[in-house]
Order: sequence, then C-alpha cells, then structure tokens
Amino acid sequence: FDEIVDIIVIGSGFAGMSAALKARESGDSVMVIDKMPVFGGNSTINGGAMAVAGSPLQKKEGIEDSVDTMVADMLEAGRGMNDVEMLKLVCNGTAESCEWLTEHGVKWKPFVQHFGGHSLPRVLQTVESSGAGIIRPLIKAAKKAGIDMRNQTKLESFVKNDEGRVIGIKVRDGFYFPRNKTGKVRLFGASKGVIMATGGFGRDIEYRQMQQPKLTKELDSTNHAGATSEALKQMMLIGANPIHLDQIQLGPWASPDEKGFGTASQFNTIATYPSGIVVDSRTGERFFNELADRKARADAIMTRRDEQGNPVYPIGFTNAEGAKKAQTLAWGLKYKVIQQAETLDELAQLYGIPAKALKEQVSRWNKAVSAGKDREFGRPMQKAMKLDQGPWYGVRMWPKVHYCMGGVRVNTHSQVLHLITDKPIEGLFAAGEATGGIHGASRLGACAVAEGVVTGRNAGQMCTQSKRVEL
Ligand code: ADP
Repeated sequence: FDEIVDIIVIGSGFAGMSAALKARESGDSVMVIDKMPVFGGNSTINGGAMAVAGSPLQKKEGIEDSVDTMVADMLEAGRGMNDVEMLKLVCNGTAESCEWLTEHGVKWKPFVQHFGGHSLPRVLQTVESSGAGIIRPLIKAAKKAGIDMRNQTKLESFVKNDEGRVIGIKVRDGFYFPRNKTGKVRLFGASKGVIMATGGFGRDIEYRQMQQPKLTKELDSTNHAGATSEALKQMMLIGANPIHLDQIQLGPWASPDEKGFGTASQFNTIATYPSGIVVDSRTGERFFNELADRKARADAIMTRRDEQGNPVYPIGFTNAEGAKKAQTLAWGLKYKVIQQAETLDELAQLYGIPAKALKEQVSRWNKAVSAGKDREFGRPMQKAMKLDQGPWYGVRMWPKVHYCMGGVRVNTHSQVLHLITDKPIEGLFAAGEATGGIHGASRLGACAVAEGVVTGRNAGQMCTQSKRVEL
C-alpha cells in the first residue's frame, strides 16, 4: 500500500462526513476521499431540510410526533417496500443526530415545516436553506479533528485479502470525468474497513435508463455531475446485493425553465406546495394533493401531456404571504423562473390559463381552507392558507430525476451484505444514498439528510468496532 489508515470513507456528503467524524471520535485514523474537485456531493446542493421525529421545535409548536408516526409515514410513501429494520434505525436516530449536527454548528430556522407525505409538520431546515449549511460545519469539524480529506481522488476498485475481507482500495488521482484514465493510480490500505458513502446515480443517464427506460436524457436531473454508478458497480463486483435500483425518484417541485436543482425546487418546497396550489394550465383546476408524497405528485404532474405526448407544464402559485419564507424568490424572479402578477387575471394571462376557471378554483380552495378539509384531493390542512390577495407568484412545473432509492443492501450494523449468503462482506460498510431499501418506492422529502446523517454515524461507529487487520 502507498498509505495506510484505520478507516477510509469514500464520499464527502452527509453520509460520508457523518461517518468520518463519528469514526474519528473514537480515536481511529480516518481518510475521506472524493472524486470531485469540491467536497459535499449532492448534499451541498439541496434544501438542507431534515425530518426529525420529536424535535424540541415541534414541542414548542405543540405538535405531537413520534418515531412510530414517522416510520408509518415513510412506509406509506414507500408503498410498503421499505426495509423496516433500517427504516426504524433511521427514524429512531433523527432527534439525536439533529442535536449532534447542532453541536457541530449547524443553525436551523426557528420553525418546523410540513413537507409532502408527512402526516404532520416535522421538517427542520438550515438557515441557509441549503445542505451546505450542514456540510460546511462538518468539513470544518473534520479538518479540526485531523481527518485527512482528499478531493479529486476516485475509488476505482477494492483490495481484498485471502479471507475475502476488504482491506483497501485502488484510487486514481486527478480531475474527475466518469471515464478519466489518465491520473496516477495508488493503493490505500484500511486496517479496520472501508465505508461507502458514494451517493446515487441520478446523473448517469445510461445506467438509470437501464433501470427505468423512461428516464431518458431529455429528463433533467437535480444531481451534481458526480452522481454516477461506478462505485455501486464496484461493490456489486465483490458480491454486494443491489436492491430497488429501478426505484428512482423524480423531484415534483422542479421547473423546466432552469437547469438542475435551481431556484424553483426550494421555492416550491417552502412556498408553492405548503402555501399555494398547482393547476392544469388548460383548465385552471387542481388535479392532485399538493402535499402527497413525491412519487404521487411527480406521477400526477407527468400525466399532463398534449395529444402528441409533449408535456403541458402545470402552474404552481402562491401569494406574497405564502412566499415570504422563500429565500430563492428574488433569484427566481430575476431569472424569470418565477413570475409575478398583481391580479389573478394577470396570472391567468401570463400562463395562458382560462381566467374564469382559475378564479373559481381559487375560491373553491379558499372554502376548503375555511372548512379545514380538502374533499377533492385529501390534502392535510394543518398549515393550509387562504389565497385571497395578490401579488401572485407563479412557476411552471415539471419533475427532474432527483434521488435513487435503490442501492446496496445493508444490515443495521451498516455492513454491506453478500448477494448469495446475505452475510456481511467483511470490511465493507455503506451509508446514505448508496444503500437501498430504506425508502421503498418513494423517499419523503427531508428524509435524505435524516438517512445520511443517521446511517453515516452508524457506519462510522460500527466500523471502529471491527477487528483491526495487520497490513
Ligand atoms: P449522501 O447524501 O448519501 O452522502 P452525496 O451525493 O451527498 O450522498 O455524496 C456522495 C459523494 O460520493 C459525492 O461527493 C461523490 O462525488 C462521491 N463519490 C461517488 N463515487 C465516487 C468514487 N467512485 N470515488 C470517490 N468519490 C465518489
């Protein structure tokens, strides 16, 4: 080996950074590698929202929540396909992990939010409205703790000993391109184990299309360029069991009027969906529960097509009151992803919606809010808001590939399991989006931060407990 440490973590997102810090706490030497020039993966480019069961903020707002309720919500969204053991581990760990993040300097907004598919408000969000608000303090803490952080270092394959235990990795240095073969190759040894926190493959068009042929290159993704499948394939090559790989989530809050995660994703999550409504631009009518889980919403939106099968983008909108917590409003307006209208007539004209039908829909919605019940689509109404005054803010909506529910099968010790024996592949651990099964058919919003941090810390802890091999 060129270098030897106790534990190597691959990937520097929520899962990787949490694993590394947790492992380092017990005194082991830890190295984190990431193939990209910047650390943080998809974890830095999302809304920084974390679902927590039983947070102090919920108690302050009089919301009664429990681990069991969160498990039930995630099972319902997952269409019962979830790995229940792992799901319970995640939900059980949210309150403690959230506190751990706070101790590491993460700052949260002083209110809880109600995200789609959750039966009640339980979502905390960083003050920055970004996962960077979590990744930055974790990287700072990692450097302070003496964790060796290497960027532009890509895992190419695993090194095993005669007993079949993973004892190290082969890496390639240099700027990352999926098929870059020019950098220097080196061998790193890990005497206690390797933790895979390599995320999903949402930007790997070829591979995601093998799993789900409908996810063509025309469909944009919110993911960073490094969300590709090579690390997953290396795990499979040494016997890891891939599960639910065709369960690929589309983010229902994205807009076709910008690239990537953009401004609309956050605006719609914090404003349009909880405090506004979404209508079919041809009829001016609502057509789904705006607080359903992501799969239900994305599937509903994608039914809106013309006779040739081309998308007819639905319009989401709220008013100034609904938009007041949205930090991306100004950016969205600047880039014309979000458009402002003073009256409903003007909004209708902007998007070609029949004005009379739109106004009728808004008044039907306001009646439902007064009644506290959405008879048409069964939307939870705890935080529902009347739409009785402009100015209005509208967004064209179309889903984007966002998250891979599938990945390698792990046990509650975060060990990667072999596809024939279902026994741990010694020396190999995994956490975060790289693992499969926790979310079943649809991950609820704000549950990736929860999963990443909880399973990352678990993997870090478990890896420190494994027997050291002499290298
Ligand atoms: P999670 O939320 O599960 O932590 P992220 O997408 O935030 O997932 O982070 C995964 C990280 O793993 C990314 O920064 C990505 O660049 C890195 N990664 C993926 N594949 C490799 C690889 N083969 N070698 C090194 N790093 C990798």
